[in-house]
Amino acid sequence: MRTVISLAFLLIVLGSQGEAVSGASVIELVNQVSVDSYRDFLQNDLFAYDGANRHYGYEHYLARQRILERFEGFGLVAGLEPFRYSSGLDHNVVGVLPGAIRPGETYIVGAHYDAIGGSPGAHDNASGVAGVLEAARVLSQHAFEATVIFIAFDREEQGLRGSAAYVDAHAHEDIRSMVNLDCICYQPAEFGDSDYARANLRYTVRTDLVDDLALAMESYAGLRCAIDFGGHSDHVRFSAEGFAAVLLRSIATDNPYIHTPLDSVDTPGNVNYEYATQLTSGVVGYLATQARLAPVWRSPDFNGDCKVDIQDLLILAEHWGQDDPSFDISPPPLGDGTVDIQDAEGLLHYWGWEIPGSGPEPY
Ligand SMILES: [Zn+2]
Repeated sequence: MRTVISLAFLLIVLGSQGEAVSGASVIELVNQVSVDSYRDFLQNDLFAYDGANRHYGYEHYLARQRILERFEGFGLVAGLEPFRYSSGLDHNVVGVLPGAIRPGETYIVGAHYDAIGGSPGAHDNASGVAGVLEAARVLSQHAFEATVIFIAFDREEQGLRGSAAYVDAHAHEDIRSMVNLDCICYQPAEFGDSDYARANLRYTVRTDLVDDLALAMESYAGLRCAIDFGGHSDHVRFSAEGFAAVLLRSIATDNPYIHTPLDSVDTPGNVNYEYATQLTSGVVGYLATQARLAPVWRSPDFNGDCKVDIQDLLILAEHWGQDDPSFDISPPPLGDGTVDIQDAEGLLHYWGWEIPGSGPEPY
């Protein structure tokens, strides 16, 4: 009897194989990047207003907590990674969106959340952290084949300490690229000016990432990148370890308020929310393209033999019509509550694929 049911099931599933697997496109994701959401993060989570201080002390600690809570709220596997610098412990905040098919292959977007003493650090660099949060908000609503990692680094201003600690701890991992957002919100040019629709992309070791990211910035954000050597920020630590890494920042590098008490969200002209959001949308387009949108949010290799084949399809058939989340693998990210034809389509999308082992250790 079980064989008859399985055969009937196979006929139904194989008959539907020609249908497109449902899911969002990269453009749809990019369109979900929101100025209102970016503004909310920058104004309300990151302590970047007049008098605030993310150098040491209470507001530095609170900003770290808010970032962690946001990552957790997005459903990321989130945690603090402590490291020792000077006399005490400091912490990077890390949020992981595990890949469904190639979890060991990782793409990183990061920004430092610390500021120098005496400056609220809105442009440098709450602006970059808000970009990381907005990218995390949008991407976490979808599923990807590879893993995307969101990081808020600590102690950049004291010598790139947080990124150095991260690279030390993760040097053995398959990090395909690292995009560092540092100072992305200052843009005094008016929309429509020749210098408006541009961003600055910097590298210390040139890799394919430079051209791939420049292309995504142009395609998804309408921003042309001025490409330069250098930039002293967290990407340098990744490049030094042999990983592809770049700095992405505002095209305007002459912010008069930087490292002063006036680098605040309250200083008129210091924060261009539309521009920073536009830049963020290009990063979202880049990450979604590289990590590849997936029609499943969990691996369809149910029996764990690293191959998607008839045995997996039969296991799915045994759970047909149930609400078992282990087999309700599509559509992303949370399934529709029933193991049904969508899940079979997601499995068939990867028919015959080799599915490698696990990714980074969870927190
Ligand atoms: Zn900075």
